[in-house]
Amino acid sequence: MSEPAIALLRSHLSGRWQSGDGRAATLFDPTTEAPIATCSTAGLDLGAALQFAREQGGPTLRGLTFAGRGALLQAMREAIHAEREALIEMAVRNGGNTRGDAKFDIDGALATLGYYADLGKSLGDRHFLLEGSPENIVRGGRVQGYHARLPRRGVAVHINAFNFPAWGLAEKAATALLAGLPVLSKPATSTALVTHRMVEVLVEVLPPGVLSLLCGGVGDLLDHVGPQDVVAFTGSADTGARIRGHQRVLSAGVPVNVEADSLNSTILAPGAEDATYDALIRHVHTEMTQKAGQKCTATRRILVPRDRLDEVIADVSERLRGVVVGDPGREDVNMGPLATAEQRRSADEGIATLLAGGARVVFGRPGRGEPRGVEDGKGYFVSPLLLVADEPLQASAVHDLEVFGPVSTLLPYDGSVAAAEAIVARGQGSLVCSIYGDDRAWLEKAVLAVGPYHGRVSMVDEKMADKAFSPGMVLPGLNHGGPGRAGGGNELGGTRGLDFYTQRTAVQGNGPLLARFLGAAVE
Ligand code: NAP
Repeated sequence: MSEPAIALLRSHLSGRWQSGDGRAATLFDPTTEAPIATCSTAGLDLGAALQFAREQGGPTLRGLTFAGRGALLQAMREAIHAEREALIEMAVRNGGNTRGDAKFDIDGALATLGYYADLGKSLGDRHFLLEGSPENIVRGGRVQGYHARLPRRGVAVHINAFNFPAWGLAEKAATALLAGLPVLSKPATSTALVTHRMVEVLVEVLPPGVLSLLCGGVGDLLDHVGPQDVVAFTGSADTGARIRGHQRVLSAGVPVNVEADSLNSTILAPGAEDATYDALIRHVHTEMTQKAGQKCTATRRILVPRDRLDEVIADVSERLRGVVVGDPGREDVNMGPLATAEQRRSADEGIATLLAGGARVVFGRPGRGEPRGVEDGKGYFVSPLLLVADEPLQASAVHDLEVFGPVSTLLPYDGSVAAAEAIVARGQGSLVCSIYGDDRAWLEKAVLAVGPYHGRVSMVDEKMADKAFSPGMVLPGLNHGGPGRAGGGNELGGTRGLDFYTQRTAVQGNGPLLARFLGAAVE
């Protein structure tokens, strides 16, 4: 049987497909370790690509109303939907995704585009947004000030992580395009196959310069950003810091949004009813195993009242016993490998660090296990692992190190809100905290206590336990981001997601005249 051909992934820049001429990077199938594609960005003129997007894509988008931009997002949604099956297969092959994992990513992209398409429709005929009501500068309303959010005149540079090649592209592009900014998207090289195919179909339905793709290393892209551009990044804290500190980014005052590492927590409150408790067990299982734990929002730390620790260990372990690790293309497998050899090495090292730092194993064994349907020793597999740190505040590594794989740690606590807050705070800022309980006074205190350490708090009680989404599900209408270690970023959140792509400009002057210029209702 002949080997499948190795694809060449090109970049779409300055309105055409281009390939670099230098040493190519290789993309692998993480199940078989076979090479499946190459790409290179060496020698590409990235300054010209940004200028093309500014000159062609920007005016086109700004010429459209929100409804018009929403219609473009809807066209994008439909184009991707038509390609859904092919994209799922690519995600299985290049990302090590099970079909379920692949759908989570691709359907997340579709849902986000759909949400922002609808938002565009509802914002209607306007070209920009006004914030709040006018400020009266001189009594009587003759001299007033408005705050307008005007689309910046630059490009939204999007640099994404390897774990969500579809959703990552779509969630950032949806907000930027609706705000009126053209996008240059750079997926992580290792899993770029899905993003590459998406852009192949998207450029067919979008006007020139609205969406560009850089497929491969970032090269000198950031040397060419200008004062009207923005950079939104998702990935490791180290790379985020490097981008923030980039000389050109600093000197041009380019806004940077960072979504980085996160040690998300789940808290079981004392006295939770059965349905609430069951939701926690279900969600812990999902968060540990979906995408083999490679989600920025996955639950890494699970706080349980000390007197329920054994019960939680038994119930989570029972669920994890049903996990079949192996070739993600098989129907009888429900967890695939990690995406790259580097991710597996990093996860193995991370597990060793957690174990040396006060955690012990209560389910599973460190290592690859015996993946089903896979050649001996091949593939970047890591078995699910449940740990306990008996003295949570002494186990520093559990709060400092994000193991990006199917690994979570149970942290017993005394059931008080104060103790839960102290443990959660050790994560130094995370994307999401989920709280499961039925004592309303306790819940109120807990939501307010842990809120400042998170971009999102998910509360689950008996009344809605069967309808609750697992906390790792990012929702387009709600903020995505987190303080501190999580990068201090904000994405999505309905119209809030557009803030990053717009300039807040205070416009002061003749009140009634300004109201007319800005399309405000005259009070
Ligand atoms: P990474 O190594 O930091 O890479 C992320 C992106 O940055 C890739 O596109 C990478 O390109 C690019 N990059 C690398 N060096 C760069 C540089 N010097 N300048 C500009 N861009 C550069 O992260 P990763 O390994 O892909 O992702 C794993 C991490 O992402 C995890 O820690 C996870 O927590 C975090 N994450 C966070 C979120 C969130 O929403 N907060 C979501 C997903 C993942 P190449 O691939 O070409 O090297």
